[in-house]
Amino acid sequence: MTATPAPAMIELQGVAKRYGDVLALQRTDLSIAKGEFVTLLGPSGSGKTTLLNLIAGMIKPSAGRIVIDGRDATTLPTNQRGLGMVFQNYALMPHMSVFENIAFPLQVRRLPKAEIKLKVQQALDLIQLGHVADRRPRELSGGQQQRISLARCIVYNPALILMDEPLGALDKKLREQMQLEIKRLHAELGITMLYVTHDQDEALTMSDRIVLMNGGRIEQQGTPDALYFKPETVFSADFIGSSNLLPGTIEIDAAGGYGLNTALGHFPAPAPATPMKAGDPAVLLVRPENMALDAAGGATRIAGRLEDSILLGGVVRHFLRCADGTILIVQELNQPGRTGARRGDEIHATWLPAHARLLPPAPAG
Ligand code: ADP
Ligand code: MG
Repeated sequence: MTATPAPAMIELQGVAKRYGDVLALQRTDLSIAKGEFVTLLGPSGSGKTTLLNLIAGMIKPSAGRIVIDGRDATTLPTNQRGLGMVFQNYALMPHMSVFENIAFPLQVRRLPKAEIKLKVQQALDLIQLGHVADRRPRELSGGQQQRISLARCIVYNPALILMDEPLGALDKKLREQMQLEIKRLHAELGITMLYVTHDQDEALTMSDRIVLMNGGRIEQQGTPDALYFKPETVFSADFIGSSNLLPGTIEIDAAGGYGLNTALGHFPAPAPATPMKAGDPAVLLVRPENMALDAAGGATRIAGRLEDSILLGGVVRHFLRCADGTILIVQELNQPGRTGARRGDEIHATWLPAHARLLPPAPAG
């Protein structure tokens, strides 16, 4: 039995964008299902905003086709694409009250007055800000203003909402609160969301699927778990979570078991996801939380000197300097009564071979 794939809300077919010499987006295929929460994640300049603006119709593609909800939207103007947008700068109209700001898109659509009133009230209730309807935007906090711009977006019931770093201007606590609020709205309303951020934690918290961008192309995409536990490249491993990365060359033993020869020793590892031959350059990835300090019986270990240990609340992060200068990060739970190793101690980092991952070497440059 084959599962029926969810119908696509967005379909990008070979879409590219060039600005003179700059290829802001390389030829990209991407499909986003109805009701999905997809996050475009990547460093500054990786093409996230370009991709979002192409879908929004704010810019025109240099090549390719954009289909939204089954309709070819490649040349449709923004206001005919049936989508809502939320930006970092709330873009509220300062001379209008909160009520008038949220009502505005409905007035443009010429809805009857009574219906507008009802819908605005419902949108305000949804973001739990019914009591500020008469205020002006400048009388509200940044978090409240961003919730108002969300309400203005959901009030006309778009099937698709695009958000470009909407929480970038908020402080950490408020940002985390808003992340959960946007997630709740997504779950309650079933709207398809395409969300842009450069913040990996935000992407991991919110998304059904993360599309990781690098240099104007998709580096890797998958569930937050897949990106975290199964990065396919050094870039992915480095961008999401922290990583210990040891370069070396592949060795394959008589039984077909893989391992990597590095400056710090030979380390066995599960067979790589991409084909590799003996002698190929590769990189061994071990996440800091999969390493432990000096656990007994670990055959897979590296000696070093403890340079520093920093407390991050529930976890402790140790920095171990190895013979060749490599710094390994070892992360352990911070338990009450923890008798930790001390700065300057000679100690080992150890891990289970099953927790290591062989990656192709990072491209030069
Ligand atoms: P991100 O949103 O991931 O930070 P952008 O999509 O804004 O990245 O930009 C991707 C690349 O395209 C960058 O190199 C940027 O300098 C370039 N770029 C974006 N917009 C323009 C433009 N209007 N003119 C020229 N280059 C642009
Ligand atoms: Mg951007």
